[in-house]
Amino acid sequence: MKKKLDMLEELQEVDQQIDTLKAAQNGLQAELSGINQGVDAAREELVLLEANLAKLETEKDEFEATHAAELENIVRSETNMKEIKTNKEFQAVGREITAARKQVADLEEQLLQKISQIEELTGEIEAKKSVCDELAKNSAQRVVAKQAEIDKIQSGIDADIDRRESVTKGLPASLVKKFTILREQRRGQAIAIARDGYCMGCNMHLPPQLYNNLYKYEELLACPHCQRILILKLQQ
Ligand SMILES: [Zn+2]
Repeated sequence: MKKKLDMLEELQEVDQQIDTLKAAQNGLQAELSGINQGVDAAREELVLLEANLAKLETEKDEFEATHAAELENIVRSETNMKEIKTNKEFQAVGREITAARKQVADLEEQLLQKISQIEELTGEIEAKKSVCDELAKNSAQRVVAKQAEIDKIQSGIDADIDRRESVTKGLPASLVKKFTILREQRRGQAIAIARDGYCMGCNMHLPPQLYNNLYKYEELLACPHCQRILILKLQQ
């Protein structure tokens, strides 16, 4: 019985170690996702800036087309003017030309604004691109390092799983099952140390008869309060 208890204790130790390693691994996985998300976010920003640039380019093209059309109108009106007979018509066309020239001047003003916006945004995109590239490069290195840590932990977990198997092989299947269920129900702790008349799993006082029976190692004894399997330990 003493040997069984020792093996159960080892089983609990291995299981707790596996839990710790898995938690560490999950933490690293989360960091890994964080790094990848950082790169994705930077790339998305870049895509947005590039979309804005494309919009500005389209607007600029439209202004240019309107500008060219207005210039053509002016030329046409000026040609027409030569054939005009009445003074009234002459004045009307003259007003049209003046309005068209004003329109052309406005368009040129707007075009200049677009061009300077495009230049500014192009500069911003260049800067963002180099930040993005740098980030991608650094992130790739960090991802490799994190992945190596994750893999290293995995080999630790694999070794623990092997050790767990060799321990469970030496124990009756029913006991392993009981242990596993108890562990799930008792927050990862199926085994509790009994010391000075107390169960260290739940810190409750154990019935004296039960505590005395622990010294005999005749049967598996469970704490009546938390149901954990008790292992007698006189000293820490
Ligand atoms: Zn207890």
